[in-house]
Amino acid sequence: MGEYYLVIAYLIASVLFIIGLKMLSNPASARAGNLWAAFGMGLAIFSTIFLYNPDAITTYKLSLIFVAILIGTIIGFVVAKKVKMTQMPEMVSLFNGMGGACAALISLIEYPHSAGQTSTIAIIMAGLIIGSISFSGSMVAFAKLNGTLKKSIRVPAYNIINNVLLLAIAAYAVYTTMQGGYELVPLYIIFAAALAYGILFVVPIGGADMPVVISLLNSFTGLAAAFGGFLYGNQVMLTGGILVGSAGTILTLVMCQAMNRPLTNVIFGGFSENGGPAGDSDAQGSIKDTTITDAAVLMNYSKKVIIVPGYGLAVAQAQHVVHELEEALIKKGVEVKYAIHPVAGRMPGHMNVLLAESNVEYDKLAEMEDVNPEFTTTDVVLVVGANDVVNPAAKTDPASPIYGMPILDVVDASHVIVNKRSMNVGYAGIDNALFYNPNTSMLFGDAKKVLSELVSEVNSM
Ligand code: NDP
Repeated sequence: MGEYYLVIAYLIASVLFIIGLKMLSNPASARAGNLWAAFGMGLAIFSTIFLYNPDAITTYKLSLIFVAILIGTIIGFVVAKKVKMTQMPEMVSLFNGMGGACAALISLIEYPHSAGQTSTIAIIMAGLIIGSISFSGSMVAFAKLNGTLKKSIRVPAYNIINNVLLLAIAAYAVYTTMQGGYELVPLYIIFAAALAYGILFVVPIGGADMPVVISLLNSFTGLAAAFGGFLYGNQVMLTGGILVGSAGTILTLVMCQAMNRPLTNVIFGGFSENGGPAGDSDAQGSIKDTTITDAAVLMNYSKKVIIVPGYGLAVAQAQHVVHELEEALIKKGVEVKYAIHPVAGRMPGHMNVLLAESNVEYDKLAEMEDVNPEFTTTDVVLVVGANDVVNPAAKTDPASPIYGMPILDVVDASHVIVNKRSMNVGYAGIDNALFYNPNTSMLFGDAKKVLSELVSEVNSM
């Protein structure tokens, strides 16, 4: 009977995962979607604990399980509460790495019990390799994003070394599986080699490719969890893993498109050769700065203003005040919308999440493809803390590390006002010719402060 209830619980949990994932695709329903999926996960965990093998459950085992759950819950809760929006990608990397580690640990534990069962050993090997790569790769991504690992380290011919190592791991895993998996030493060799591969895979990657890597590692973790589901014949683990794996793969493809990186390049480690902070300065000319009053007048007498939010807006926590500016301008009869670049900020959907937090209406957020044709009929574009996503070098300079990345065509607007604190570069580490364009004015200062002053100025007109 317990088994019957367990299957029903798994079915409900799987449906909740799918509904939750679907709801995540819209900012209005994303929060509720997350809660539904979390509820599904809770249901899956507790029904496994109490219904999977009730006869084997002892008070001792239960207390171990619940102490572990309690520790994990407290750590997860505190970390999620404390994390700043700008640190979100680091947190995603860290949590993703934990998922990969779980999958690898499952394989390490189950291997000795599965000797002689070739198909089970094959599943264990797949979970071990993918989970270990995902774990160590995510830890390197975490260290890169939080600034611990600043440089992209590239040994000569790193692509060849990485690919040879990956092939060697796969070949040795196949050999070990065919041997029946009686020896423990090959297991630990494969484990160590997969960890090393994860490090070598992510270490050379720098600059603008990092989001693709994180999302790719995320899909690896999903795959590794799905292998765990196969191993245990656990439907909900399988469904959850497949959903994470496919969502991560789709996101990887979308990010590749947005950053103009072919997926084959990502998978075989051939990317970011010319990416990463370059620090060179090709753009030249003189810049024109403007004042709060002039900028406010310009926007106040415009018909249409498009705001381009970027990473600097997130750092300055200026999402609420930008919404105030939008409302102040709308009151003056100006049409206002936001142009959202898919990789603006430091994580996919960063700007949507940030603006949703300050209750900006969703229909005011325009995706890059939809908004690009509109810039020619826009009086003023206000760029707030964005840099790479409006850099024309992506279109005009084949030598640029971001060449080929689709950008917001703000240069087409009649006037561009760029708010940032200095002439410093953005994430890709390159100068931006937009700042030297004749129709661009620089409005220097911290985004929150500048926007607050703009709000007061517009309101006083
Ligand atoms: P950028 O990183 O290109 O530029 C941000 C700009 O904000 C900087 O030039 C900085 O200039 C300015 N800034 C920083 N702090 C403030 C502040 N307090 N007030 C005002 N301005 C500030 O950001 P974009 O959003 O344009 O581009 C995102 C970049 O990040 C892309 O290269 C993308 O590939 C990459 N990336 C994206 C991820 C994603 O998934 N979205 C993940 C990881 C990387 P200054 O110092 O002069 O103020």
